[in-house]
Amino acid sequence: MVGAGQLARMTQQAAIALGQSIRVLAESEEDGAALVTPNAEFGDYRSLPDLRRFAASCDVVTFDHEHVPAEHIRALAEAGVTVLPGADALRYAQDKAAMRVRLTELGVPGPRWLDLSDAASADDTRRALVEFGREVGWPLVVKAITGGYDGRGVWVLDSIQDADPMLAAGTSLLAEELADIDFEVAAVVARSPFGQGASWPVVETVQVGGICTEVIAPAPRLPALLADQAESLALRLAAELDVVGILAVELFVTRSGRLLVNELAMRPHNSGHWTIEGSRTSQFEQHLRAVLDYPLGVTTQTAPVVVMANVLGGPDDTKPALDERVHHLMAKWPDVKIHLYGKGFRPGRKVGHVTALGHDLDTVRARARAAAEYLANGDRAEVDAHE
Ligand code: ADP
Repeated sequence: MVGAGQLARMTQQAAIALGQSIRVLAESEEDGAALVTPNAEFGDYRSLPDLRRFAASCDVVTFDHEHVPAEHIRALAEAGVTVLPGADALRYAQDKAAMRVRLTELGVPGPRWLDLSDAASADDTRRALVEFGREVGWPLVVKAITGGYDGRGVWVLDSIQDADPMLAAGTSLLAEELADIDFEVAAVVARSPFGQGASWPVVETVQVGGICTEVIAPAPRLPALLADQAESLALRLAAELDVVGILAVELFVTRSGRLLVNELAMRPHNSGHWTIEGSRTSQFEQHLRAVLDYPLGVTTQTAPVVVMANVLGGPDDTKPALDERVHHLMAKWPDVKIHLYGKGFRPGRKVGHVTALGHDLDTVRARARAAAEYLANGDRAEVDAHE
């Protein structure tokens, strides 16, 4: 796996049971997966020589993130390395403009959009954006075409003046209509080279300030018909785009009850972490099965309601210490499962997640939120996890 963050770390856990052991191309010894992988390789995912050196010891190369340059992925494939997903598929997770073009060709609904990267100058971009604003109305959304994550690289603009900093920075931009979002969901599926597909129930992803804080499986507010549509759409996209491994399709549900595709990810995804305990096959195991061309595992839920809450790091001086917080949490809610990524706590950083399972949505959700909140903020949290 190229990249050694929490996704690679959790993939390693799944690999162990399959009698496999993943190798990782890490940036530093502190990376979450480097901590749990013997003989981690260190290098730069943007360097072709580093990637070649790493790939020489792998049967299959896959990814923990989407930032490996496409030309390097192609060069590896041309040299005979099995890289999954391949560059042609991955492109639609790397380049938001390419994704919008392809989805529009496929007739897949999304917000109206305009690629601003072709404009010859900042003035031309500005004019094009003003024109687009006339068509779709303000506020509208502007996004960096490549490299964004967790809402970094996404801006809601009230007027053309708000675009000045982005235009001055010279970033390649895509403009989108501001979708009238009621709530957000994700359809996560897997596909093997053999062509087998498998999907999990569609989940609701609760976003706060561009960061996913909670995932609820199955999506409680999503009408069954839309859930079916989202699942079929994700399976169809996996096949059309020739994805191998996990495909996560992030969608908006609008107030008028439409589904709009927001973006695609081709790797285990935050909206699938709940599957570790909440499904018979986790997304990490499924990703491995897919890229190794094994038959896929069954995806039924292990409980009627599963809620995953991200632990977003609190301040450095959080009290009591992390070990004690874990201790209190385990004592208070022995059914809540804790996942820590081995990362330093920094405000807003995803440092772990918790999963709660049960029958009653409100109870399960409250428990997952309270547990994540306490792990992140300790005594500052508005929950008492002390027994
Ligand atoms: P990232 O690549 O950083 O995850 P996304 O494209 O997923 O960025 O956008 C992050 C969040 O910004 C979305 O989850 C959504 O809440 C909001 N957003 C993105 N695009 C739109 C849009 N066209 N209309 C309304 N909200 C949007």
